[in-house]
Amino acid sequence: MADKKVALVTGANKGIGFEIARQLCGHGFAVVLAARDERKANEAADKLRAEGFDAHGVRLDVTDPATAAAAAKWLDGKFGRLDVLVNNAGISSEFGHDMKPSEVSLDTVRKTYDTNVFGVLTVVQALLPLLRKSPSARIVNQSSTLGSLGTLSDPASPFYGVNLLAYNSSKTALNGLTLAFAKELAADRIAVNSVCPGWVKTDMGGEGAPRTVEQGAAIAVKLATMADPPTGKFLDDAGEVRW
Ligand code: NAP
Repeated sequence: MADKKVALVTGANKGIGFEIARQLCGHGFAVVLAARDERKANEAADKLRAEGFDAHGVRLDVTDPATAAAAAKWLDGKFGRLDVLVNNAGISSEFGHDMKPSEVSLDTVRKTYDTNVFGVLTVVQALLPLLRKSPSARIVNQSSTLGSLGTLSDPASPFYGVNLLAYNSSKTALNGLTLAFAKELAADRIAVNSVCPGWVKTDMGGEGAPRTVEQGAAIAVKLATMADPPTGKFLDDAGEVRW
């Protein structure tokens, strides 16, 4: 059984996920950087090991349950438990394409849900036996204010007009998943929360985004490391986000 706390971050080869992994290393965790491309997972972990951190790469394509099961088996053999799971991997093929809900293809919606919703369910179910071995485990789901129905239905919100059917509704569904697991896993003392990183300069967020990856990673890292975390909440840097 590992002495240090152990965290796994999905989609950790770049963007906000890589920065979350780096910051968790800084908090003294052994961090597993999961990526769908094994080479990218190992290269990302190598970068953090070169900074003196306890980082490890593992292949995990969240749309492929076999890779989630294999990652769980590997984690069990290496660490014997998991303390923090950050479900960060996510996609959107609508950004910058002005896709209208009436025009977006079913294939686009399905692919988005496969990663952003069913992918999270796959990873949580595969890793739950290891999370249950931790005395105070946490699951942090990387959501978005664009998944907030309270925000999207508010004409005064700056996000009111960002009408991306697949992405937005996938994050709404992810928030539903957060609440459902938070209720079930309270008995296991596993905190489950959704977070929004803000609009962050990454391959997904684009060059025009105002926030850095350091800023974007902060809320997930806070939920992963704070004593007595809340559960069943949707949070950003400023506090609670409307569901
Ligand atoms: P990014 O730079 O595009 O990184 C996305 C990560 O997810 C990459 O590592 C990517 O891997 C991985 N990924 C995609 N599909 C995957 C799969 N099937 N299995 C495993 N990994 C997969 O995006 P980001 O901006 O860092 O976004 C990270 C998370 O924050 C996402 O969930 C996103 O929805 C959320 N978010 C971002 C913003 C923003 O402004 N950037 C705002 C709100 C929420 P590959 O390199 O292999 O593609």
